Amino acid sequence: MAASASASAKCINVFWHDGMMSHDTGKGVFDTGMDPGFLDVLEKHPENSDRVRNMLSILRRGPISPYISWHSGRPALSSELLSFHAPEYIDELIEADKAGGKMVCSGTFLKPGSWDAALLAAGTTLSAMKHILDRHGKIAYALVRPPGHHAQPTQADGYCFLNNAGLAVQLALDSGCAKVVVIDIDVHYGNGTAEGFYQSNKVLTISLHMNHGSWGPSHPQNGSIDELGEGEGFGYNLNIPLPNGTGNKGYVYAMTKLITPAIQKFLPDMIVLVAGQDSSAFDPNGRQCLTMDGYREIGRIIHNLADRHSSGRLLIVQEGGYQVTYSAYCLHATLEGVLDLPLPLLPDPVACYPEDEAFSLKVIESIKRYQNDVIPYLKGT
Ligand SMILES: [Zn+2]
Repeated sequence: MAASASASAKCINVFWHDGMMSHDTGKGVFDTGMDPGFLDVLEKHPENSDRVRNMLSILRRGPISPYISWHSGRPALSSELLSFHAPEYIDELIEADKAGGKMVCSGTFLKPGSWDAALLAAGTTLSAMKHILDRHGKIAYALVRPPGHHAQPTQADGYCFLNNAGLAVQLALDSGCAKVVVIDIDVHYGNGTAEGFYQSNKVLTISLHMNHGSWGPSHPQNGSIDELGEGEGFGYNLNIPLPNGTGNKGYVYAMTKLITPAIQKFLPDMIVLVAGQDSSAFDPNGRQCLTMDGYREIGRIIHNLADRHSSGRLLIVQEGGYQVTYSAYCLHATLEGVLDLPLPLLPDPVACYPEDEAFSLKVIESIKRYQNDVIPYLKGT
């Protein structure tokens, strides 16, 4: 696609590299990598290449394809990783790769080919951010795996080795952006990204997640509302743990009631949407109830925020989403919203469960009262 079309508002620049398929997470009992010996059928690890293959093909051949401009990703250099990660941690991963791989933490397998894929995921996300920073386009989407938002500066967690979004945020800051907001809609707490910027008032990290709490040594953070950041960063990490079963109305309410007012006060010049489709009603790793309509509406809200605050500049980074079919459909719907298309392009093939929103709305109201009480810049919003 010509550069002029790629710079148009009605276009999403997708960054991808086939080498990310080479991360083979294996088979077992769900994500354990274990064969108990009494099952005839072992399933693929949920973070497998099929899920991303469908995301790729729906963007190539689905009704949204005329709005997509394709770009090749590239591997990150080890030196680039040090803007977010500690050198000892990177050395540890390089050594593990040289030794033929290992289980880095529960469910998270570095196997032959995984490190190359992780470097591609990080570098591809950096390329997508650079595309925006160089003013070649307003909206870029890094379609990457392995995912990144659980990776902390010094440790891997939850299928993630390198924090792709965190590296891109740091690149934006180093390139002159004054303030970046990260909005993480993956169903799990974006603990790695939060940790990386916990003491910064230049990065507002916001995470909507199910109320799963800490899940062990690789994920010590709770994702609770009182993890607000430290020092200068106090008030610049907003956790929104939503009750299990929260669906379209609850998410949109949280976006409107909590996220939009905070961003209006923060005034970012770059927006990063950390997108996981594991908040959908059909995801094996999540207990939330978003459908395509909800993802489309979230995309539209993000579009409006980018229009208002960052001259339309928006980086979208792929995270979780493990139902092999519906994740692709929900991605399609999110991008329809981001493009602010007047009518849905793709009907929902499966959504059917009604949402019971009453409890979610009550919880969001109480988070609002808490944030208004304790965070100075949010008083009166
Ligand atoms: Zn997730």
